Amino acid sequence: MHPQPAKEMAARAGTVGKDVVAVHELVPVDGNLRPKCGAGEEENEIYEWMRAVNCADCMGS
Ligand SMILES: [Zn+2]
Repeated sequence: MHPQPAKEMAARAGTVGKDVVAVHELVPVDGNLRPKCGAGEEENEIYEWMRAVNCADCMGS
């Protein structure tokens, strides 16, 4: 038995591109943070916020 430090994945939230209303849950994809629901295009910039996720798709999946 090897004791393992608990790795808590803190939920990160952010917006995509010009849409600053929908706050998505951000998940790491290939070293980048992307919306969990897949919103936005790859060229859309992600802005991380200390805000509560309000995207229904991100919260529902
Ligand atoms: Zn979302």
